[in-house]
Amino acid sequence: MIAADPYGSLFRGALWPAWEGGLRGRPTLPLWREAERRQWWSRERLQAFQLRELRALLAHAAARVPYYRALLAEAALDPAQITSVADLARLPRLTKTLVREHYDALVDPLTAATHVKKKTSGSSGKPFAFEYDQQSEAWRQAIRLRGWGWAGYRAGARTLYYWGAPVALHGVSGVKTRVDRAIRRETYLDCLAQDDASLARAARVITETEPTCIVTWPIAMAGLARFVTAHRLRTWGTIPVVCGAEALTARDRESIERAFGAAVYETYGARETMLLAAECERHDGLHTMDDAQVVEVVKDGRPALPGEVGEVLVTDLHNLGMPLIRYENGDLAMAGPDEPCACGRGLGRVARVMGRQSDTLRGARGEPVPGILVHALVATHDQLVLDYQLVQRASGEVVLRVVPSSDADGPGVERIAADVARYLGGLPVRVERVASIERGPGGKHRSVIVEPAG
Ligand SMILES: [Zn+2]
Repeated sequence: MIAADPYGSLFRGALWPAWEGGLRGRPTLPLWREAERRQWWSRERLQAFQLRELRALLAHAAARVPYYRALLAEAALDPAQITSVADLARLPRLTKTLVREHYDALVDPLTAATHVKKKTSGSSGKPFAFEYDQQSEAWRQAIRLRGWGWAGYRAGARTLYYWGAPVALHGVSGVKTRVDRAIRRETYLDCLAQDDASLARAARVITETEPTCIVTWPIAMAGLARFVTAHRLRTWGTIPVVCGAEALTARDRESIERAFGAAVYETYGARETMLLAAECERHDGLHTMDDAQVVEVVKDGRPALPGEVGEVLVTDLHNLGMPLIRYENGDLAMAGPDEPCACGRGLGRVARVMGRQSDTLRGARGEPVPGILVHALVATHDQLVLDYQLVQRASGEVVLRVVPSSDADGPGVERIAADVARYLGGLPVRVERVASIERGPGGKHRSVIVEPAG
């Protein structure tokens, strides 16, 4: 409880506002408080808010962003004339290829110097660059705080990140980040180390640090959960678990619930737009963040009906620095029901999110290793790689196909392979340099392919 956690109260009341608002100069806290209030608005009021924000985004894009100035003129779309979010469908979708081809024209030149620049390797294989403005960063944090908050996450409360090491290590560079983590009371543990000694250590850390929330990759978390149950290591009551980065299967949810209690929450995020959807306490689909984004699920060019699977198109309402409008992020989702959620929030829902699944690799001893590990490892060397694909054959043999960039030296690419090998318990990983990666059926790019064991 908040009252029983004086540090948490101090953190939220004084330390964090000083850090975010003062040192970082970001309005994260006021935005978060507003977002907390807005979630309880009626559906109609939220939709009206969303429409207003969408008009403002389009007006900004038309005035300041060359790519959209041309596009909106061509579509004869006057932002002021938009009467419903459905009017967005008059604009073409923004693919990753279009972003690569028109990168400079998608950026607001007046704020470009202060943008946050990011890259993602993602499940689609090719590294992908994008950027966003400072205000958007504050929105991202505010929406994440609200969504994770449904699971019981609180800023300043003891949180364990049982997460992929490369991502964790990536973030530890820089004094600012280290100070950030210390005052936030976050602990990081490498979830990819799934040998018995590492799993036992993870259980010990949980017993000793008594986290109030665990943020994790679900496949690895389920591995830990099964280990905890099998060895009767549970010393704790219910610890809320926030699952991200990949889809949560019913079987993994069950394993995690058995070891950590029935407070397992699936979330859906992406680096380009941050938190897109999250489960509330009803666990009945995932709420979309309608005050921060427009999430469309599109099938054959029309909105998917409840229960239908379609492509996700996302419009980030507050990234004025690089507007991503109807951005096709490569994921599939099942459209949610029209009726409101029993929790009372006015936010819409998607029923499920697909297309984030990576195949699960087999380590040297047959242990499961999450395929998203490969994306995370490539992301740490993304300047070396234009495109990649990892294939594990039925025999267990592993091949990393890489389209090297012009800056790629030999040893750099070998280092990625060595990192992957380490997480596979020492299985050798052979590097193949290729000119391009073949597309699978339907033109889909699969960056991790695991053939069933022979
Ligand atoms: Zn709900």
